[in-house]
Order: sequence, then C-alpha cells, then structure tokens
Amino acid sequence: PGFADLGLGEPILKAIADAGYTHPTPIQAGAIPAVLAGRDVIGIAQTGTGKTASFTLPMLHILAHGRARARMPRSLILSPTRELATQTAANFETYGKYLNLSMALLIGGVGMGDQEKALEKGVDVLIATPGRLLDWFERGKVLLGGIQILVIDEADRMLDMGFMPDVERILNLLVGRRQTLLFSATMPPGVRRIIERFLQDPATIEV
Ligand code: AMP
Repeated sequence: PGFADLGLGEPILKAIADAGYTHPTPIQAGAIPAVLAGRDVIGIAQTGTGKTASFTLPMLHILAHGRARARMPRSLILSPTRELATQTAANFETYGKYLNLSMALLIGGVGMGDQEKALEKGVDVLIATPGRLLDWFERGKVLLGGIQILVIDEADRMLDMGFMPDVERILNLLVGRRQTLLFSATMPPGVRRIIERFLQDPATIEV
C-alpha cells in the first residue's frame, strides 16, 4: 500500500511527499491504520525502522482538528532521553508543517521561559522525559487531565534507565479514556507489566 491508502489527511500526505518518502515502512503500514482506528498499539520495532513516523503521522491526523486548553496538553510522548525527545520533536515539525498545531518539549537543559509560555497557552503535542514532566506537574505548570493520546517510546530503554516508576506515576495521573501507544525493541517483564496494567485490547505490530 501507499501512504494515501492508510487513511491520512492531505496536509500530512503532502508533508510526507516533501520528505521524499514513497512507501510506508512495515511498522508504519501496520501501526498507522490501528492508531487511526483508535486502538491501543504495541509496536515492537528498533530505531531505524521508521517507528517515529508510525505514531507521529496518525497522531497529527487525529489532533488536526480541535484546540488545546491552557496547561492541558492533548497528547503526550514520553521519551527516555533528551536526544530522542529532540528527534521526535523534529519529526512532529517536519510532518506537521501544513497543520497549525502547537508543540512543547520538556527536557533538561531547555530554557524554561518559552516552554512555560507555550504550556500556558495550550499545546497539542507535549514531548517530555518522565522526570522533567513530573517536576513541571508538581509545580502546577502542566495538567494531565486532557491527554487523549499517550506514547511511551523506547519502553525497554525507560526500564533500563530506571524510569519505569516515573512512567507508572504519570500513567496513574492520567484520567479517563485515552489511547495508549507503546514502542519497544524488546519485551522484558517490566515492559509487559506496563502493557498489562495500562493498555486495553492492544493491537501488536512486530517488525
Ligand atoms: P526512525 O526509526 O523513526 O528513527 O526513522 C529512521 C529514519 O527513516 C528517519 O531518518 C526517517 O526520516 C526515515 N523514514 C521514516 N519513514 C520513512 C519512509 N516511509 N520512507 C523513507 N524513509 C523513512
């Protein structure tokens, strides 16, 4: 199939064409329709397989309409490292260039002023490392009651780095029904436990 067969809207297809992509990778062909259908998703894929676009593209499609309220992000991507968070933010910028969505990045070493202003106005996409997000939450700068879509990226690395307690705390702070997407290259017991506790009837795509 081509990207146009996966259910993505025109502004996103145009950005994909600008990026020079002709065909979805296997993780994209599997995950994009499942995310667009509203499913929880487990993506078992390494970096380099196109996994970032497999959640970024359908999230942009889902978020394209609607508006964020002050301090209540509509979606959240949890990344284990600053580097991955920064790369993911670049993906959202690239694929979202024909959409009018707002984004904020909460990671160590990024100036707080601009991020605080963005959050105060309301962001559609929040990308964060778990510890930094909890700092902001505890200071009342970000509320987690409006998250419609949550991504846990590189869950096995989160586990290795000792971040799972923070990830669990964040998951317990989310209220109401939301869509949860979890990506991991491997499936150790600590990752399976999160899946069993927090994902509902997930579609699994393994590449
Ligand atoms: P990732 O696995 O998300 O780190 O992506 C690996 C690389 O593949 C990135 O440089 C992307 O820009 C690129 N990429 C993602 N999807 C596609 C695609 N469908 N066709 C060609 N390149 C892609």
